[in-house]
Amino acid sequence: MDWLIIDAHNDTMMKMFDAKTFEIIADISLPTSFAIDLPKMEAGNVSVAVFAAYSDDYGDVSVNMATLNASIMALRETARRNPERFKLVSRADEVEQGLLSGHRMGIQSIEGAYAFNESNLETLMTQYADVGVKLIAPVWNHSNPLGEGTLEAFASGEKSPKGLTALGQRFIQLMDRHQMMVDVSHMSEAMFWDVVAASKRPIIASHSGASAIMSHVRNLTDEQLKAIAQSDGVACVVFCRYFIGDEHADVEVLVDHILHMINVAGEDHVGLGSDFDGATMPVGLNDISMMGSISEALIKRDLSENAIRKVMGENLLRLIGSFSGKGDTTFPLKNKPLLEGGVVSVLLTADEQLRLKGGKPCCLVDGQPVLPDFDPLTNRFFIDCSNLVQGVPRIVTLAFLDEMGKRFFATEVYSFK
Ligand SMILES: [Zn+2]
Repeated sequence: MDWLIIDAHNDTMMKMFDAKTFEIIADISLPTSFAIDLPKMEAGNVSVAVFAAYSDDYGDVSVNMATLNASIMALRETARRNPERFKLVSRADEVEQGLLSGHRMGIQSIEGAYAFNESNLETLMTQYADVGVKLIAPVWNHSNPLGEGTLEAFASGEKSPKGLTALGQRFIQLMDRHQMMVDVSHMSEAMFWDVVAASKRPIIASHSGASAIMSHVRNLTDEQLKAIAQSDGVACVVFCRYFIGDEHADVEVLVDHILHMINVAGEDHVGLGSDFDGATMPVGLNDISMMGSISEALIKRDLSENAIRKVMGENLLRLIGSFSGKGDTTFPLKNKPLLEGGVVSVLLTADEQLRLKGGKPCCLVDGQPVLPDFDPLTNRFFIDCSNLVQGVPRIVTLAFLDEMGKRFFATEVYSFK
């Protein structure tokens, strides 16, 4: 059977760079020892995978941000180097096009928003939205200024306040404005319910199991599953052996979780969220090339073909579709930005130059406003980043608002060296 397969969470990008130097050290266009690479996605006929940029709180916001940026850069570099095989998507129509052209597709997500604080909340969110980040888990296990993780404590060990904070409320509102999905998988239960109350959009749990089958802090109670269904969201079952069962857990145990989640939430609200390259996988489901064993096991358990189709990928495609609205006030600049000798520049078209003359530049580096320059001889709009600390991946935005309030931008992630 030929199913559309979408996987809502993996940690493969974590393995793509050196955690100290942030240098890219792997290439997933070739066969690797990882659970996900392009040959394995192709072999498993998996069309779309959500690649998380993961960060915990390392005690320094700039390190947290560099860690996110390194992951995002590694994924974007993979797409740039393999245009025939792999592309990044953020809307349902782009997924449909990729299916027609036979591409493997990646969706960018953030797991752990420890790079955000009061001063950069809006600017940094805008930059990650610019590059196409579609899904954010505001917290990983540790709590942060946005809310409370599953451990109900900060990385320092200090106990955290319950639930979503006022800053976290603003974060959820901003995500809504930028067409991003809120991922509840690592939230404490108190934060989960605050998010359900605060969000008007469908909610995703990108990698969690069912508490009724295996009681674990990373799994969802039946009440939580029902709330996700009520939001028209999707609860994606995690494959991690120790969340779904014990060291002997196999595909059958995983299917127990899926069938329970369907019983409680309904077949329109369950999907897959492996956690490949971030957890110990069930027996017989080592990597993404083996995803077919899940649909085979579901057939043996007499789940209808229609329900299997939904769980394997169609529910997630519907969810992506409900976050595919196009903003009418923000537009990419026509030309791509260029990095040369520490200077990031973009060549403006005649129309863009005219708009810029009457408008206002609003450029950013890692969420901080910077003053750009314009060279009228070459029509280049640019930021000189050569004074920044070298070897740190940064997210850079060249943007301006025209007189009508329309925003024109070029955003990319670079390592300056
Ligand atoms: Zn996780």
